[in-house]
Amino acid sequence: MRLTDLHTRLADLGALPVHSGRVVRAWLQGKPLHAGTRRQHTEHFLPLGVRAGLPQLAGELDALARLKTEHPAADGSSRLLVELADGQMVESVLLPRDGLCVSTQVGCAVGCVFCMTGKSGLLRQVGSAEIVAQVVLARRLRPVRKVVFMGMGEPAHNLDNVLEAIQLLGTDGGIGHKNLVFSTVGDMRVFERLPQQRVKPALALSLHTTDAALRRRLLPRAPAIDPEALVELGEAYARRVGHPIQYQWTLLEGINDGQDELDGILRLLKGKYAVMNLIPYNSLEADEYRRPAGARIVEIVRYLHSRGVLTKVRNSAGQDIDGGCGQLRARAEQLPRSRRERDPQRIL
Ligand code: SF4
Repeated sequence: MRLTDLHTRLADLGALPVHSGRVVRAWLQGKPLHAGTRRQHTEHFLPLGVRAGLPQLAGELDALARLKTEHPAADGSSRLLVELADGQMVESVLLPRDGLCVSTQVGCAVGCVFCMTGKSGLLRQVGSAEIVAQVVLARRLRPVRKVVFMGMGEPAHNLDNVLEAIQLLGTDGGIGHKNLVFSTVGDMRVFERLPQQRVKPALALSLHTTDAALRRRLLPRAPAIDPEALVELGEAYARRVGHPIQYQWTLLEGINDGQDELDGILRLLKGKYAVMNLIPYNSLEADEYRRPAGARIVEIVRYLHSRGVLTKVRNSAGQDIDGGCGQLRARAEQLPRSRRERDPQRIL
């Protein structure tokens, strides 16, 4: 279901825009669809036809994103395995400080070599209502004041649905525009469309290396935009909207943690309206990629920071519970469906 279908459904029940707005705002807050203010009774603010149709609509909206399992972690985050109406599963992550990471696709076509989600290829798009339903589901568990589009999938490959979700979350959803973070490997359509939106989100760009040839190997199906060009495009957007670009850099030992890369980062990002987020790789057993040693990570942060690039280490949320993007879903998919249904906690 797309969000436009939701508005059409409400109109078909006899809702005027004012009624639809009330129902949608109640949904976005994770409340019952007929919730009004404390002193209002439903019959005073919704027509009979709408009231009669709400139970069925509520059931359909609940089915858009159902909590399959929840996996709290020691760092205050909690990973949610979320089942969509057709049985496909995606991951959302409740982040510390009222954040939420949502998925925009089931699987992903970019195929980053260090990403579990990329290994499955693209299975299907996540609809705009399904994206928002992940926020609604999370708000029934915790307050959500920030939404990052960094879960499974490449948002640029599902642009219409993601922009529709951003528009609603940044208006009736009550989330500040700079607290909506669109994360992409870089795609010209993003730089063309985002500046035209009424709700202009903050932008996170997955850079990972300053070496164009290495980037093509690490992100094999990302658009061929050189790191220099990507940073120029990002800088123009950041200056226009007034939110810094968050550069994402998955740190891989022996691959992109050397002095050449640090020099490259200084060359590209010094003086830019940017934050560098280093994400040490979340190694699994028998994995061909490894995270650098802790001492090396500290050294990299000090080196960049002291030379004028604002640098932060962002550990993948919930590392103690298969915290890398797509690892939880991959584990769930490996279990036969019948066993999962009997004993969902086995996914842990
Ligand atoms: S890191 Fe992101 S863009 Fe790359 S394969 Fe994984 S989900 Fe897709």
